[in-house]
Amino acid sequence: RWPEPQPRTGRSRLLVLAGPTAVGKGTVAAQIRRTHPEILLSVSATTRAPRPGEVDGEHYYFVDDAEFDRMIAAGELLEWATVHNRHRYGTPRAPIQAALAEGRTVLLEIDLQGARQVRAAAPDATLVFLLPPSWDELVDRLVGRGTEDAEERTRRLRTARVELASQGEFDYHVVNDTVERAADEVASLAR
Ligand code: 5GP
Repeated sequence: RWPEPQPRTGRSRLLVLAGPTAVGKGTVAAQIRRTHPEILLSVSATTRAPRPGEVDGEHYYFVDDAEFDRMIAAGELLEWATVHNRHRYGTPRAPIQAALAEGRTVLLEIDLQGARQVRAAAPDATLVFLLPPSWDELVDRLVGRGTEDAEERTRRLRTARVELASQGEFDYHVVNDTVERAADEVASLAR
């Protein structure tokens, strides 16, 4: 069962950070982990393969399709989605419930489909939309990180346009101009 909603003056919050591809959600979340250790950063499960340097249990729980199916069936995921029409990603429910019950703030860095599911499951959650300084900046960042081929970049930019149009569903909008500033602004919304 979901914990009772916290009073608005309380310190415990479920914070959801979403935004279009390549806007820097992961970088902002990593910065918050360094500078705001009191906030628990949720570790998602995913069916995609680890990238070089990614550690199981730290960046993601890397699972196969059968294990992901099992987690869904067992009700272990607060939300899950197929992202960029490819791999599945989901938020384990238990660590979040435990942290909220202890009065800690929890940060989820998830996609827009996931953010909508969290809103439905936990109406008290605070939804934050991370924006690029401009569309051109978003394209530059996606090309610059070089982790996707041209076809995948086109696919992600198409998704990004649709996602940017959904920003009105969010409680707060934070521009990722510099990582440090954006991270502090997101963390300040936990209070
Ligand atoms: P990547 O594969 O680049 O690490 O992540 C791809 C996308 O999946 C990002 O937009 C990220 O926000 C999203 N994502 C990561 N974890 C989750 C999750 O648990 N649930 C949902 N819905 N999306 C997630």
